[in-house]
Amino acid sequence: MAKRLGIFGYPLAHSLSPVLQQVAFDYHNIDATYEAWPVRSEQLGSEVDKLRGPDYLGANITIPHKEVVLELLDDVTQTATSIGAVNTIVKRGSSLVGHNTDAYGFIKSLTEQADFNPQDKSVLLLGAGGAARAAAFSLAETGVASLTISNRTVARAQALANAIDLPSANVTAISNDPSSVSKIANSVDLIVNATSVGMMHGGAEATSPLQLGDLTPDTVIYDMVYTPSKTPLLQAAGDTGTTCVGGLWMLIYQGAAAFELWTERPAPVGLMYETAHKALADFR
Ligand code: NAP
Repeated sequence: MAKRLGIFGYPLAHSLSPVLQQVAFDYHNIDATYEAWPVRSEQLGSEVDKLRGPDYLGANITIPHKEVVLELLDDVTQTATSIGAVNTIVKRGSSLVGHNTDAYGFIKSLTEQADFNPQDKSVLLLGAGGAARAAAFSLAETGVASLTISNRTVARAQALANAIDLPSANVTAISNDPSSVSKIANSVDLIVNATSVGMMHGGAEATSPLQLGDLTPDTVIYDMVYTPSKTPLLQAAGDTGTTCVGGLWMLIYQGAAAFELWTERPAPVGLMYETAHKALADFR
């Protein structure tokens, strides 16, 4: 019997996961189908419960369910518990185990694609949702010198600042007021956009989350948004000559880690990237 997997989210128009996962299953000749499962919050419990059936291997979770899904699972890894967000469900027997592979995908793409080691560096993180939480926890783990978290809802930034394992003197929560954010942006080593600002169909497309001023020449700009591939932030940053990384490689690495959890086979990372990159060109 063909196995089934998919991604839960709402809406799901921007998801590349079905194409990048399906190519990996096909590469290994695994009889499995990976689908997009657009599910509203009120249906999430019953849909997640279906994963306990014999033909399911697991699932991915995206906006807006990554945080609430924790309550629906039998077990959650230490990393996902600390982050407070699950993006991958793995079925072990009939138990559903929640993992977070976003943190791994973020750090792996930052080190591989930008050749950037966050240890002892200063970081400005835009956003305080699930993706920002994964970034903040993994940055704290690698030993950043300082982390400023800017968010539209400042209480959420403060809650994240309080939750991560860094001395309080090294973590600051601020609003997304453009003038204060720009001042900090001009003096840090790394700027990460983990908001959905700039994302296609995200309600604030064609908008940059940050007005770029005089960046230091070595500043790395990292945008987790991958639709479009050249986001408004990356377009603006391109003119400054700094190193820029888009969200596609993070997507690939988090997806590769999920694939390996489901199948215990090595993910064909290069093939997954090529396939997703081509599919991205067709997104409208
Ligand atoms: P989320 O939990 O819904 O958080 C959204 C964040 O964006 C919050 O900080 C929110 O601020 C902020 N935001 C939304 N609209 C805004 C606006 N108009 N102005 C200012 N701030 C706004 O979503 P998420 O899961 O963290 O995802 C965030 C982004 O990262 C999405 O674009 C997603 O596609 C991307 N992402 C990429 C990858 C990857 O593999 N590349 C993985 C995960 C996520 P408030 O708290 O004030 O609402």
